[in-house]
Amino acid sequence: MDLVVRDARLHPTGGTRTEPVDVGVEGDRIVAIRPRGGLAGQHTTELEADGRLLSPPLVDPHVHLDAVLTVGEPRHNESGTLIEGILTWAERKRSLTHEDVKERAREAILWEVGQGTGLIRSHVDVCDPNLVALRALLELREELADIVDLRLIAFPQDGILSFPDGKALMREAMRLGCDVIGGIPHYEWTREDGVEEVHFLFELARETGRDIDLHCDETDDEQSRFLEVVAADTIREGMGGRVVAGHTTAMGSYNDAYAFKLLQILKRAGVTIVANPLDNISLQGRFDSYPKRRGMTRVKELDAAGVNVACGHDSIMDPWYPLGRGSMLDALSMLVHVGQMTGRGELFRAFEMVTSNPARAARVEYGVKEGRPANFVVFDCEDEAEAIRLRPAARWVVRAGRLVAETQPAMTVVRHAGSEHRVTFAKREGAPA
Ligand SMILES: [Zn+2]
Repeated sequence: MDLVVRDARLHPTGGTRTEPVDVGVEGDRIVAIRPRGGLAGQHTTELEADGRLLSPPLVDPHVHLDAVLTVGEPRHNESGTLIEGILTWAERKRSLTHEDVKERAREAILWEVGQGTGLIRSHVDVCDPNLVALRALLELREELADIVDLRLIAFPQDGILSFPDGKALMREAMRLGCDVIGGIPHYEWTREDGVEEVHFLFELARETGRDIDLHCDETDDEQSRFLEVVAADTIREGMGGRVVAGHTTAMGSYNDAYAFKLLQILKRAGVTIVANPLDNISLQGRFDSYPKRRGMTRVKELDAAGVNVACGHDSIMDPWYPLGRGSMLDALSMLVHVGQMTGRGELFRAFEMVTSNPARAARVEYGVKEGRPANFVVFDCEDEAEAIRLRPAARWVVRAGRLVAETQPAMTVVRHAGSEHRVTFAKREGAPA
């Protein structure tokens, strides 16, 4: 075979410890999964996983690649608020060039790929008469196709009805080759404009045959209720499984009776919700004194109600969030803390929010199974809960059967009492109390 990974642990359904396996690849497909030792013989490339977790690639369902790595340009967002972020971005946007966007986005993609992300859905601001960022990212999508599946979402940062020629720019973005239709109804000037925007997105979906992935109710305003419009339109248009709503932080402020009703129609609609905990724990609650809201959508309740929930990175060093290193496990770690999903089973479910759940929303062929594309990551840990706790190195990243990234795990030694102690950050099984 072209590639064999020996002694890896798969957790395809999450949670249940399974026996170690060998995974065999020919060309760009997984052709064999056998109990450990089952793929003997000589193979072109052989990797010893030593019981490490072999996971399908991480998925980042929500990032803004046009804005990454612009922190401090032209100035820092000193208040740290969403609105100062938007105003700072409006200034920076004037100096965007084709090469500037490509260089920054390429760098951030390499960070993500190196840490195990194989599918990225990026919003790209189309409130620009020249669509500079979109043209740059469309090129990058093709240039980096060997290492990442990049999907672009036409994102009207300044609104569609509230921005000159907003509808025409959205149509032009889709005509140029954007994959998915974005939106931002809560940012329109009026409630009525927001509702009209949502209807327009579905009209555009009908015209183009494309899916929808909009920013929705990213505010602490409990009166911001565009998600219900999205759900209703999804049902009426028969677009179940093809619509994603990002952020939906207002859900954290709704009263429980309304939230209950909303959960029911979201489930019926088949709308995916993407939480972006890194940005939102920082950006929301800024008008509160105390108690201060957490600024995240109801991840745990949505998941329990059977709604498909995913976790995005959102920002990597941009005007909204100065931190971030493109690690989906950092984002997920924040999600389980903010969303209080630290139960044993909850940690395993959470891992699906950066793997199979966003993959389902993107409607791609996915998962470590015979016959599937040979896309996977070997993490330097034993299982998904450890992946969230340790945020370990992606030892090997394989895409289409090719080793596209590898990381040497760090090694820590502490010198004490005349000897050296190798620290692995692992709980010693069976260690005396
Ligand atoms: Zn966003």
